[in-house]
Amino acid sequence: MGKAFRSDSVGSAGIAAEIAAIEQRDDAQEPETVRCPVGECPVTYAVYNYLFSDREANLASLMYGLKIHHPNHPMRAVLNEPRME
Ligand SMILES: [Zn+2]
Repeated sequence: MGKAFRSDSVGSAGIAAEIAAIEQRDDAQEPETVRCPVGECPVTYAVYNYLFSDREANLASLMYGLKIHHPNHPMRAVLNEPRME
């Protein structure tokens, strides 16, 4: 718990700035590409900033969110945003 995934269009100015900031960190990860989990849906997402130490749980929570977005998902990038609880 304590993690929330937020998704947004890669083209939007807000997320572009956020991704640029992530990529400039010393500990920047390569984004991981994942497919929308619904059927043969070709939409892919670039996942930034998940925790390697909790990768399986992070991706499982992400997949749950992507199923909700389908088929209207305009989103292409997903960032793992820490949430204080
Ligand atoms: Zn989809």
